[in-house]
Amino acid sequence: MQQFGTPHASTEVIRSRRVVLPDGERPADVLVREGRIERIAAHGSLTETGAELTGTELTGAALTDLGDLALLPGLVDTHVHVNEPGRTEWEGFASATRAAAAGGVTTVIDMPLNSIPPTTTLAGLAAKRGVAEGQAWVDLGFWGGAVPGNTGDLEPLHRAGVFGFKSFLSPSGVDEFPHLEAPALEEALAEQARLGALAIIHAEDPAVLAAAPQVPGAHYRDYLASRPDDSETAAVARLLETARRTGARVHILHVSSAAVLPLLAQARADGVRVTAETCPHYLTLAAEEIPDGDTAFKCCPPIRDESNRDRLWEALAAGEFIGIVSDHSPSTAKLKLRRKDGGSGDFALAWGGIASLQLGLPAIWTEARRRGHTLADVVRWMAAGPASLVGLDGVKGAIAVGHDADLVAFDPDTEFAVEPAELHHRNPVTPYAGRKLTGLVTTTWLRGRVVDVDAAPFGRQILRNH
Ligand code: ZN
Repeated sequence: MQQFGTPHASTEVIRSRRVVLPDGERPADVLVREGRIERIAAHGSLTETGAELTGTELTGAALTDLGDLALLPGLVDTHVHVNEPGRTEWEGFASATRAAAAGGVTTVIDMPLNSIPPTTTLAGLAAKRGVAEGQAWVDLGFWGGAVPGNTGDLEPLHRAGVFGFKSFLSPSGVDEFPHLEAPALEEALAEQARLGALAIIHAEDPAVLAAAPQVPGAHYRDYLASRPDDSETAAVARLLETARRTGARVHILHVSSAAVLPLLAQARADGVRVTAETCPHYLTLAAEEIPDGDTAFKCCPPIRDESNRDRLWEALAAGEFIGIVSDHSPSTAKLKLRRKDGGSGDFALAWGGIASLQLGLPAIWTEARRRGHTLADVVRWMAAGPASLVGLDGVKGAIAVGHDADLVAFDPDTEFAVEPAELHHRNPVTPYAGRKLTGLVTTTWLRGRVVDVDAAPFGRQILRNH
């Protein structure tokens, strides 16, 4: 992998009674040298100088003893809309990556739309990379976009190291990133199959959306009815058919409706290369609890009902999702139109997107624990899985020898109430406001160095290995 930016740190031992390793949780000492995990040893077996009790060579290491705080790998969030340049008032690299670091996310892959220009050309990628320079508190990669008319741009972007290409099957919400109709989808997937690129797809069907009742206003149930389950299943069915014909590897973004899961299972059984993700808001929030006019909860596809949420958890436990990612997609408070901010509270008109980058880990942990899952499960869903999606397994997403020492100290038992003004997101709007969550990130290390969001950043821009 090519990497850019400043290197590394000295040698350190991090000790915890709860180190979350790929095969489960146990007490251990983790030796970090020059930004990488060099050894995982028995708890208490490395001295304060970093030397093994019988060894001599590891002089100069510091010891950080976390006691009963858990040590997790840094999370990998492959679905973040940073929006800079062009809509930096919605979110920017500095604010997003600070929020990430504070939330235990050490790798962010930025979505190609909502910025202006979008990342659909080499020039668009260069604009992103230029403006991100010196503003990344965590490691940062980029998705490209496949839109009508840019098939010729995909190969240069692929060679330049984007992690794959996002497309929409229905209108994206911004004019400069149009969706793909059937012939354009076929063309884009055929080209990505040729390149060996990963196609990531927003799957809602425009015809189903157009036929659904469109009742504007502040009632969440009306908004939910305007984006029914069928919009996801119809789009996924069409996508899988095209993937089958073209041989492209496809990934369904932000699955909200559990009704798509049987389609995915059938396609996999038939040999279609398909993965899927879901998001904290679909797993922790439910339509029944969304207050009228609170458009902080608006996203596309929408948050559905409690029984659907239970089915998503069952699928997660069964390994049907490769991971949980934020789909952090903020806007200004003005565009969010919340009643409590003086807006109309109209779900049809509000910007659709949820801001949660800093809160995904405690939100998921709170609900996962209630449902009997472990920290190792959460790490598999939020670190290892997303890392493997983008080919960063082996480098990111696990506490394992040779991996980057991207680490998080996590207090899994302390409860807090979400105070939006204390978040690093540019706009303090989130549906988690006031919610009691369990689990505090106390320290984040990026390649062995503690991240201080008030000091200079040392995140690197990372590119797909090729
Ligand atoms: Zn998104």
